[in-house]
Amino acid sequence: MEKLNEQSLEQLNPFEISSVMMEEAKRAGKAKLHDAGRGNPNWINIEARRAFALLLEFGCSDARELPISKDIVGVPGNQGIFRRLKDFLVQQESETALFLLSILQFAEQQGWPADEFAAEMIHGVIGDNYPVPSRCLKFTEKVLNLYFEKILYGNKGLYKSSAIFPTEGGTAAIVYIFNSLKQNFFIKNGDKIAMNTPIFTPYLDIPGINDYELVELNVQSQEDKEWTIPLEALEVLKSPEIKVFFLVNPSNPGAMALSKEHLDKLEEVVQENPHLIVVTDDVYATYVNDFESIYARIPRNTILVYSFSKLYGATGWRIGDIIVHKENIFDDKIRQMPAEKKEK
Ligand SMILES: *Cc1c(COP(=O)(O)O)cnc(C)c1O
Repeated sequence: MEKLNEQSLEQLNPFEISSVMMEEAKRAGKAKLHDAGRGNPNWINIEARRAFALLLEFGCSDARELPISKDIVGVPGNQGIFRRLKDFLVQQESETALFLLSILQFAEQQGWPADEFAAEMIHGVIGDNYPVPSRCLKFTEKVLNLYFEKILYGNKGLYKSSAIFPTEGGTAAIVYIFNSLKQNFFIKNGDKIAMNTPIFTPYLDIPGINDYELVELNVQSQEDKEWTIPLEALEVLKSPEIKVFFLVNPSNPGAMALSKEHLDKLEEVVQENPHLIVVTDDVYATYVNDFESIYARIPRNTILVYSFSKLYGATGWRIGDIIVHKENIFDDKIRQMPAEKKEK
């Protein structure tokens, strides 16, 4: 550490500091480094990966029926694909095949058109089509919504009325959101954005985030209060001067979720400041028992972000989602804009 004086560390961004620390820890030798998932988790979900691999194998072998040359074949046909996939899985007799068979059964129980569902999965996995619709594939959105119903929507039935926009990770989601808020005239340079701090530090490096006045106000996670926001601090959000409340919930560091009292307070806040936009990163939702999200309480005002990076140990796959309610203040704002802005 000698060659790194404090001043030079201050010049680095948090990711750079983290990698310097990792290098130093390795150099120091013997002590075992325990990675609690702040940066990259040191676990992977193997059920999901094996299922993905088996679907990929099916997609390739199904297409093999249509040879062009040794390595190039036609694409799997959609008619009867559900049946062919099922036959393929039954022959496998593996745990992964049983898992996938239970998924096919689930799709049937939902009454989803079998071939259409299987075709979306297989073409999705082999990646041979431009995605249509481009925002989110049809059954993918239904499946994601049913999953989020459990982990994010608090079983309130929001799966029926939530629109999902998959992105290449949660970080990209946040970048898109802030760009979109600006492009749609919801925020402009110099506007006030309240943040709970300390926030997931890479977010402070988002391009353009410094165009806004980042207001920490008293909306600050405090270590002596176990990283929760003091309830009174949320009062400031009632001011129409605050355009956006941007937070990580459950928090990082700390993994503490907003309490029922905080959520009650936020309901009160949006009654007084109905234009408040809440951008919430709920990547750690599954790490808190009985988690209740802000989205479940004030869906119209909230833009919700989730990522598969942590729970599935899939940081390299870059999979995240943006979720908004189909009835939301953003569409209202656009509807109320003067014609010239609306046109833009
Ligand atoms: C790790 C982490 C993310 C994940 O971002 P990805 O870009 O999806 O890998 C997002 N938010 C927080 C708070 C995190 O800790």
